[in-house]
Amino acid sequence: MKVDSLFSMKDDKIIITGASRGIGSAIAEFLCEAGARVTLVARDEDELRSLATRLNNKGYADFIALDVTDLAAVKNSRIKDECYDVLINNAGTNHPLPFQDVTEEIYDKIINLNTKSTYFLTQLVVSNMLREGTSGSIINISSQMGHVGAKNRSVYCMSKFALEGMTRALAVELAPHNIRVNTVCPTFIETPMTKGFLEDESFRTEVLAKIKTGRLARPNDLFGAIALLASVASQMMTGSSLMIDGGWTAD
Ligand code: NAP
Repeated sequence: MKVDSLFSMKDDKIIITGASRGIGSAIAEFLCEAGARVTLVARDEDELRSLATRLNNKGYADFIALDVTDLAAVKNSRIKDECYDVLINNAGTNHPLPFQDVTEEIYDKIINLNTKSTYFLTQLVVSNMLREGTSGSIINISSQMGHVGAKNRSVYCMSKFALEGMTRALAVELAPHNIRVNTVCPTFIETPMTKGFLEDESFRTEVLAKIKTGRLARPNDLFGAIALLASVASQMMTGSSLMIDGGWTAD
């Protein structure tokens, strides 16, 4: 098989959450340029519309404005009628705080988005794959924080460790149906989510000291992992975690 066909995503129907900015919008653009038919999901309809308009100059993109933590809205959305080849669960958040300062509200906000919404959206998308009898790939954007601990990140680490556990359990359960489930685990990337944290010089220095390759990651550092997991190149991969962490977790 030629390398282009091995990694081909041409005409694949791919749905990606958290697609309006940061890592999600960069991946969506990459997928569009690769010829996939991309559905963008986030809450801000205006941002989604302007991104979809831009992406439609390069390929195909549509959008669904949706709060993925509103499980009833997710169930009633157009997603229930579509059969996607690939789901990228990327929407996520963080609110770093010392353990003693975490409130129930902040705990619920992080767990509801990073873990619970991912679980039930995956359930809906997979139900259509099973009904149609198609193969599929679920790509969960986890984090290096799904593999190590860090101060002020107790809830975020919990949420990403849970995602890692869910990924492995679903990999086992869905493999007989030819549905693969894997995670991508980035180190720090400057996005609207992390910009504020990384503006703190001492935090930035601490972070860079742990990344052996000596720089923050960029969204395009994830493209190889996404192309691998979305395509037939990874036919035998399920339950895996791809560390895009510049060696943070290597020691
Ligand atoms: P970001 O810049 O804050 O973007 C988050 C995206 O999620 C936005 O498109 C946002 O759009 C959407 N979103 C937030 N809440 C939502 C909801 N309730 N329903 C639907 N969409 C929602 O974040 P990012 O840095 O790109 O992070 C993306 C993913 O990568 C997250 O899972 C994060 O944990 C993971 N990650 C990030 C880093 C990093 O350093 N940046 C490192 C490792 C892992 P709306 O506000 O319009 O809904």
